[in-house]
Amino acid sequence: MRTNDPVLVIGAGLGGLTAAIALARAGLSVEVHEAASELRETGAGLTLGRGAQHVFRDLGIQREVAAIACPAGALPFLHYQNARLLMGAPDRGDGRADDGVSDIVRHCYRADLQTVLIAAAERLGVAIQTGRRLIGLEQNAGKVIARFADGSSASGSVLVGADGVRSAVRALLFPGDEPRYTNHLAYRFLVPADQAEPFMALGRSAIFIGPKRTFNRYTMAGGKVVNCAGLVETDEVVGEGWSISASRDEVARAFAGWHPDVLGLIEQAGPIIKWGLYDRTPLPRWSVGRVTLLGDAAHAMLPFLGAGAAMAIEDGWALARALQLEPEVETALARYEAARRPRTELLHAMSKRQGEVTQAINPDTFVPSTAPLSNEAVMGFNPVEAGV
Ligand SMILES: Cc1cc2nc3c(=O)[nH]c(=O)nc-3n(C[C@H](O)[C@H](O)[C@H](O)COP(=O)(O)OP(=O)(O)OC[C@H]3O[C@@H](n4cnc5c(N)ncnc54)[C@H](O)[C@@H]3O)c2cc1C
Repeated sequence: MRTNDPVLVIGAGLGGLTAAIALARAGLSVEVHEAASELRETGAGLTLGRGAQHVFRDLGIQREVAAIACPAGALPFLHYQNARLLMGAPDRGDGRADDGVSDIVRHCYRADLQTVLIAAAERLGVAIQTGRRLIGLEQNAGKVIARFADGSSASGSVLVGADGVRSAVRALLFPGDEPRYTNHLAYRFLVPADQAEPFMALGRSAIFIGPKRTFNRYTMAGGKVVNCAGLVETDEVVGEGWSISASRDEVARAFAGWHPDVLGLIEQAGPIIKWGLYDRTPLPRWSVGRVTLLGDAAHAMLPFLGAGAAMAIEDGWALARALQLEPEVETALARYEAARRPRTELLHAMSKRQGEVTQAINPDTFVPSTAPLSNEAVMGFNPVEAGV
């Protein structure tokens, strides 16, 4: 890109920080503006597909990420009451052997990953401004100006909306785009591994499949924590975000009669987040002039494939690469979209389909021929090799 004006990244989440690191490594000036007043722990467990690992390797931080992660488990499907194996193989790995560089899927805690990415960005001299909630933007042929709720503003060559699932940048670019509630909610919580241990005899990862609900649990954070997510079909309308909590009693009622390991983990739950699941129609484009979107802001998807974070990370890398290669901003943004829209649209559709297939399984009559879709298209892609 032919300018010394900074790229303004709005949001210090996983995609925004990855973009900032990649931009700084490419020698481009970058500022990150984050709404939160401090970068505190938010979120739960994440699956990092192989595409994200390729990005981290290219950015020189793969070992740091592996150090806070665990190799992903086999995630076998088990019957919700008697734990009969419905699909896959029991997961007997101990979750600790990881050479840090192998091309494997990993699980990690979102807050740990964010900490690694912030440290990497700061080492490269990236300024991360907190307390900067974007509320407006203007652009002309030469620059873009971001306006923040605290009355401040920033000026740059490009503005990247990496501001998550309820993106202000997306709402400003494409007003009237309403998410649709799917009548599903997720309960998400963590259990320290020592407290979880009595309930992990069936292996370190598993998805219990029951009528209109599933319970997924896996070891992460170097084996120290078990991440739990209960997905439930419901008539209750619930918002999305990290701020809605639920009691252990509520979750226990939702999974009444389930396997003792599920109920035991619920009994040991730390703070529980309740998150409504919303579907969004993929946007026909992500960019207007000098402004574009990435990650959940561009293409929030249902969580049934655990691919959202990896897509945000891959987007961040691809956007930086396009801005590095193309002298003109709008050509670079077009090149970025062309590289990323087909893949994220595929993942969006596959995630939705995976949810429908999993929720339709009758665990009492299930036979493996009705197996859910293969994850290879998600996990096998190398965005660095594919380029932009
Ligand atoms: C129930 C559930 C389970 C999931 N499980 C998985 C999983 O297993 N694996 C996986 O890969 N993904 C999973 N995801 C998805 C994953 O959490 C997201 O896809 C990922 O965090 C998106 O990254 P991002 O950078 O786009 O946004 P985020 O990481 O959400 O970051 C957005 C940032 O922007 C900031 N921000 C917001 N508004 C503004 C503003 N106006 N101005 C400035 N800053 C702003 C926010 O404070 C935040 O720091 C799950 C999601 C849900 C709902």
